Amino acid sequence: MKKRTVYLLVGFCLLVLVVAVVVHSKTGAPGLRTSPNGPNANLPGSANTLDPVDTFNKSQHSTTDPASVWVVVNKKHPLEPKAYAPQDLVAVGNGQFLRSEAAAALKKLLADAAAAGMTLTADSGYRSFDTQVKVYNSEVKANGQTVADTQSARPGYSEHQTGWAIDIGTSGCHIADCFGNTTPGKWVAASAHKYGFLLRYQPSTVDTTGYRAESWHFRYVGTTLSTELHNRGVKTLEEFFGISGGGY
Ligand SMILES: [Zn+2]
Repeated sequence: MKKRTVYLLVGFCLLVLVVAVVVHSKTGAPGLRTSPNGPNANLPGSANTLDPVDTFNKSQHSTTDPASVWVVVNKKHPLEPKAYAPQDLVAVGNGQFLRSEAAAALKKLLADAAAAGMTLTADSGYRSFDTQVKVYNSEVKANGQTVADTQSARPGYSEHQTGWAIDIGTSGCHIADCFGNTTPGKWVAASAHKYGFLLRYQPSTVDTTGYRAESWHFRYVGTTLSTELHNRGVKTLEEFFGISGGGY
């Protein structure tokens, strides 16, 4: 009887010990998550499951420096200072100027279009603060500010003042809606990203950009960004960078 009691006691102690070990190992389990693979090694979004999109460095260039190739200018974000003028303007023909990098890209675009049998013209490139003052004030004088704001940008608020924007036309259609329906117009819209340009104001982006569709207005942003926007199907700089837009 006594031996049996001892066996039962020893058996009971062993059972308690086993239970204790199991409970301890389970409560200690979370510690395993701080493994050499990192605390979130098995969670979604870890290095091996990252969407390639997220690897794009959106800080490569400033979006507020007026001289930056990625500067975002709209009715909510004027150039600072408002009278900014670029320092490296180059003639692109037709009496127009762009900053040198954009000018080289436009030259290539125009040459490729010509080689494909299409005639494109550089209708309006850089516009100075003073020019914009005159254009805007004469609009206000003629039609009032409300109408003027739908027709031309206020001084300091135009992409043309950066030297990165160009209005492109073709024979018989200059700075007008007809451009988007021409063969050359369709070609530029489809090809612009290969040269670093973005069709800046599209029918579906009026609320985002604050501007009506302008099938002739192209903004140079460099091929790194224009290709990224094209590949992702993102149509505006505002959406891509998370910057406010819309009306004044
Ligand atoms: Zn324009």
